Amino acid sequence: MQFSRRQFFKICAGGMAGTSAAALGFAPDIALAETRQYKLLRSHETRNNCTYCSVGCGILMYSLGDGAKNAKSSIYHIEGDPDHPVSRGSLCPKGAGLVDFIHSDQRLKYPEYRAPGADTWRRISWEDAYERIARLMKADRDANFVEKNADGVTVNRWVTTGMLCSSAASNETGMLDQRVTRALGMLAIDTQARLCHAPTVSALSPTFGRGAMTNNWVDIKNANVVLVMGGNPAEAHPVGFKWVMEAKISNGAQVIVVDPRFNRTASVADFYAPIRAGADIAFLLGVINYLLANDKVQMDYVKAYTNASLLVGEAYRFDEGLFSGYDAAKHRYDKSAWQYQLDENGFARRDPTLGDPRCVWNMLRQHVSRYTPEMVSRICGTPQADFLKICRILGETSAPDKTATILYALGWTQHTTGAQIIRAAGMIQLLLGNIGMAGGGVNALRGHSNIQGYTDLGLLSLRLPGYMDLPSEKQTTLADYLAQITPKALLPDQVNYWKNTPKFFVSLMKSFYGDNATKENDWGFDWLPKWDQSYDALNFTQMMSEGKVNGYIAQGFNPVAAFADKNKASGALSKLKYLVIIDPLATETSSFWQHHGEFNDVDPAAIQTEVFRLPSSCFAEENGTIVNSGRWLQWHFKGAEPPGEARNDGVILAGIFLRLREMYAREGGANPAPLMNMAWDYRDAEDPTPEELARESNGRALADIKDDRGAVILKQGQQLADFSQLRDDGTTASFCWIFAGSWTEQGNQMARRDNSDPSGLGCTPGWAWAWPQNRRILYNRASADAQGKPWDAKRELIHWDGARWTGIDIPDYGNAAPDSGVGPFIMQAEGMGRLYAIDKLVDGPFPEHYEPAESPIGTNPLHGAIIMNPAARLFDADRLRLGVAADFPYVATTYSITELFRHWTKHARLNAIAQPEQFIELGERLAASKGIKAGDSVKISCKRGYIKAKAVVTKRIRTLLVDGREIDTIGIPCHWGYEGTTKKGFLANTLTPHVGEANSQTPEYKAFLVNVEKV
Ligand code: SF4
Repeated sequence: MQFSRRQFFKICAGGMAGTSAAALGFAPDIALAETRQYKLLRSHETRNNCTYCSVGCGILMYSLGDGAKNAKSSIYHIEGDPDHPVSRGSLCPKGAGLVDFIHSDQRLKYPEYRAPGADTWRRISWEDAYERIARLMKADRDANFVEKNADGVTVNRWVTTGMLCSSAASNETGMLDQRVTRALGMLAIDTQARLCHAPTVSALSPTFGRGAMTNNWVDIKNANVVLVMGGNPAEAHPVGFKWVMEAKISNGAQVIVVDPRFNRTASVADFYAPIRAGADIAFLLGVINYLLANDKVQMDYVKAYTNASLLVGEAYRFDEGLFSGYDAAKHRYDKSAWQYQLDENGFARRDPTLGDPRCVWNMLRQHVSRYTPEMVSRICGTPQADFLKICRILGETSAPDKTATILYALGWTQHTTGAQIIRAAGMIQLLLGNIGMAGGGVNALRGHSNIQGYTDLGLLSLRLPGYMDLPSEKQTTLADYLAQITPKALLPDQVNYWKNTPKFFVSLMKSFYGDNATKENDWGFDWLPKWDQSYDALNFTQMMSEGKVNGYIAQGFNPVAAFADKNKASGALSKLKYLVIIDPLATETSSFWQHHGEFNDVDPAAIQTEVFRLPSSCFAEENGTIVNSGRWLQWHFKGAEPPGEARNDGVILAGIFLRLREMYAREGGANPAPLMNMAWDYRDAEDPTPEELARESNGRALADIKDDRGAVILKQGQQLADFSQLRDDGTTASFCWIFAGSWTEQGNQMARRDNSDPSGLGCTPGWAWAWPQNRRILYNRASADAQGKPWDAKRELIHWDGARWTGIDIPDYGNAAPDSGVGPFIMQAEGMGRLYAIDKLVDGPFPEHYEPAESPIGTNPLHGAIIMNPAARLFDADRLRLGVAADFPYVATTYSITELFRHWTKHARLNAIAQPEQFIELGERLAASKGIKAGDSVKISCKRGYIKAKAVVTKRIRTLLVDGREIDTIGIPCHWGYEGTTKKGFLANTLTPHVGEANSQTPEYKAFLVNVEKV
């Protein structure tokens, strides 16, 4: 018998997670002929996904160990999964080093404890750790729990202990995070999204209806133009980037890069233009001005599918940098003036001719008219000719049979104006008719491997799973709350899918509280914590600094390295009574109390925080799901046991939670009801399985479910087929409504492995499962014209066949026939893409250019009185830590490099070898003026501290002419620290300011002021 290697493993795997070929006593001829094949025959193959970035590359892990009792398997080799439709067997340098992550000598193996003032760790048992942590948490909760606020409203909140949740743990772990923290009344929960892509949700949701990447990785190959701005995917998402190259090679796509640095993406682009860090809105609004002025707009699309024709209320205005409704004392807008004009039925007024001066179309023209090529160049430092060339290339994609895709990442999100930058990109794509189209979209390239999943699960201070808001203390009853969060249609006959919010919410409450949630007690509404303010990471760090916080749990999160202004973060932690670390690796946060010379110059004796370091398993040691940037839920399998005494995150959470419950049952304490009524219905309460949790995430029928005609469509106990089956009468339970359909009566849809792509457009509907409803390209109704005919036959996603919508993708639409007037943006109350965002962002219905909090020019060329975003988050204490250009004349921007992933890969030997030592980049002109040569040690300082690193002197960073002055930029990779396998280094975030984006409070990591000198 002759088999190819893939055929052989397909036979062996047979749909299971993996198997041992040797155990079958079966050796194909071809395998014996090659040493490599022979080695694999002795091994066990397990499928998993890379744990680093959100490309979510498929991997095959090979382990030895015969599975006998007490025998431990060990993973000795990892390679790319050739069947994976995105990665197709590739791994980047980060993925190639995964096996060194698993076996890093910084893996934690035993629970450890650091006593107040001590300078060493000591080992403790799991039991002692659980008991002591639960005791500290109970004492804090009992002392500080707020059952009712000053007005007597039940609020059931606990804000003196918080939790930072992971970004690479599985969805199933995330579900337990949500369950445990909300049961205890915690509001200060946050996830990595706060520091990276939270502005994406703040921007894309109001613009299109959902806050996620619109298309998917493989679809990039369908583009005619790829604009990369605010990201560097060749380095940060190398395997996903192969689809940009595919677009270039097979589709003749033009690739444009706009970035402060001539980066690795730029090196393979067709055109590169420089831009000053933090000036992106000026550039993008300049593009919009060009498109409008030069008639480069897909007008049929704009008229039918955007809110261009809707009329804006008379109270709205924009004047000298401020929108109407600004309260200077509170740094906040009253957004009521930003609404549409409404008719007597509550629907928005329209002028389909676009002639009314108050229609969105004309308001937009007026708003962007200031962004002339001259002004763009003055603000951005981009040469006018470069800017205009990019406008022309993008403008060509206004043709119905051409598309551009826009790829971005943290270069856009990590600014005080982050959400509005992304909004501007969304508006460009609406004008060009590029949303809902194959090869189009606004594609947020998510960072961490499951930060999409953790965002979906609502692991943020004020969110619940499935993008629902947690109730505030002003929403005193369930009825009030649902009335306020359930939108009314703004035009007649729209799908307005959020009208089903009560079904999503009641089903969540049934999942949260099980039989304890009844109609009589409003499904347990009172047990949810009610917020008075956001307890996001920025605010909570400030509270910590002021001594208002006692406890913090950091799970797979390294805030000392990741938070802005490291010295502030570290000082804040030293005010805590207790800190609990759950992590596979030794992080800087776990040892923030240790003296590490200049890198962490602290006195352990002065730090009284009790610290627990609990070792957790890593990606390779668990089953579960992670969600890639393209919203694919991919199930992975465990290939080995964790080292030493390390445990799965779920087991650790259960250990603490169950001991807390025992203590409350035994001793009573501050309102135990929310804690005791939280469902915890797992076969082994101490070890909930990922499979149980994944089924729960999908949801099930709690009674027979009938359709409108009374026919039973689902029997009691059956898994929901999709979210259309959810009910608001307590007969369904679903932890995360957007995941309904992921584990049905047909089984685990997330583990599917059919990579066939019949259309050739990269849709692969049989691979894994994408939310919502397995739709691969969001808003795909907009890929066809009003009559239901695809704008471009080559890119056909769906069409109307006379009776229904059908095609290669699942229609992201209801059942309305063409020309029914039902808009394609079904999550929007008006069914349209929003050029004007009404009241959905806190800093304006249109984007506007504002300077970074630390501006190199000290003014705003558009309006000198309003320089920075007036709605940005800036505490008084942090205002004092901002520098000015006279002292710190250079713009600094942080970034990632190909070989390292955030602060994780410095623990993996291969990656540490590839990039052993900290460096910064500066341009030749600046280096010469400072007498700095390549390889010199330099000191980079700002108002908040300093770092030292080796200098890389490069042509890649140009001096730009901005507002009449020469501006130099310094590039600062973010990866090193005082823990790890690399040489010890400084944490780059020593330099970044503690100032937040207006909508999401994401810090401004990408544009701040520094000085540089040779040391
Ligand atoms: S880091 Fe990203 S691109 Fe690299 S192997 Fe992992 S998932 Fe793929």
